[in-house]
Amino acid sequence: MNFKPIFNKDKRPILIAGPCSAETEEQVLTTARKLRGLQDLGALQVDLFRAGIWKPRTRPGAFEGVGVAGLPWLRRVKEETGLKVTTEVATGQHVYECLKYGVDVFWIGARTTVNPFSVQEIADALAGTDIPVIVKNPVNPDYKLWVGAIERLHKAGLRRIAAVHRGFSTYGDSKYRNVPRWQMAIDLMQEFPDLELICDISHICGRRDILAETAQKAYDLNFDGLMVEVHPDPDKAWSDASQQITPERFAEMIGSLVQRHSTSEDPDFQEQIERFRQQIDELDEELIHLIAQRMHLVREIGYVKKDKNVAIFQPERWRALAEACHIRAEKGDLSREFISMFLEAIHQEGINQQERIMNDGVDEPAITGDLWI
Ligand code: PEP
Ligand code: MN
Repeated sequence: MNFKPIFNKDKRPILIAGPCSAETEEQVLTTARKLRGLQDLGALQVDLFRAGIWKPRTRPGAFEGVGVAGLPWLRRVKEETGLKVTTEVATGQHVYECLKYGVDVFWIGARTTVNPFSVQEIADALAGTDIPVIVKNPVNPDYKLWVGAIERLHKAGLRRIAAVHRGFSTYGDSKYRNVPRWQMAIDLMQEFPDLELICDISHICGRRDILAETAQKAYDLNFDGLMVEVHPDPDKAWSDASQQITPERFAEMIGSLVQRHSTSEDPDFQEQIERFRQQIDELDEELIHLIAQRMHLVREIGYVKKDKNVAIFQPERWRALAEACHIRAEKGDLSREFISMFLEAIHQEGINQQERIMNDGVDEPAITGDLWI
């Protein structure tokens, strides 16, 4: 897939800001005027003004948006401030309504990206136009579903598409409202280098106190920009009150972030990086060898288990092994979260390999000699 930029290619970071929901005409216009005012003071430059008018709420009874009544407010924002506007669309009908009012960019929310029927309906409604669309990741960490939604728009002929990383829902304790799982965004950047990628720090964090550190992380990971929920009186917001910030605080936060360069041509930098990279390449080679060796032993165990008809998964052994690894990893300054993921991946591959041995009728350890180390 090939994409065209929605935003000015030379300006980074791209900034999308505005309230979670359009509540009243006054609230929408006040937010937009304040952002425009800060822009005129040189404090920041907003590329797109956001406000949701149809709000997909997790539970019924919460504020579900003002609906089409909010569209003339967005049109006023455009006319008065010159800011381009975006709102979330979830159905073909939403698209038609927004087209009538000249909404500049459409956004597909996380709860819509999960549903290929809805995404297709939106793609069909937009086919033949050149309207830019930004696609949030699905609520669940399903990379293919995210790419699939983008593909549906691409197939409808749209090229001005950007992706928004807003984290993934989780069950249980986390400091985030939606855990970032940054690797998925990194994978997207790698697979589609010309797709603009924005980080929605507000929905990742769900709270104000970690917005700045998360924004910095997004800059460090080379995101193209940020989406931030901004409200003139955040505590009184009708939705997502705990994560919204004032336009002034927004400008202050943006001003405090360190913008990283994509790379540096400095010869010292190049030389140092090259030296480290060589060492890393060597270590990676060693790591792969070690893992292959380990898998070889796992397969040997598979034959022994098969011979005695013993179950593959041995919870006691797994627990003891994981605990020992965690203790060692702690000494090496590796996070528990990383080691858990790493061990689980290794364990899963071990189980897969032993399952193949158990089920494919091979009784002899035929692989003793083919270890490629
Ligand atoms: C929003 O941006 O207000 C919103 C509902 O976001 P998401 O789809 O990411 O939950
Ligand atoms: Mn919101």
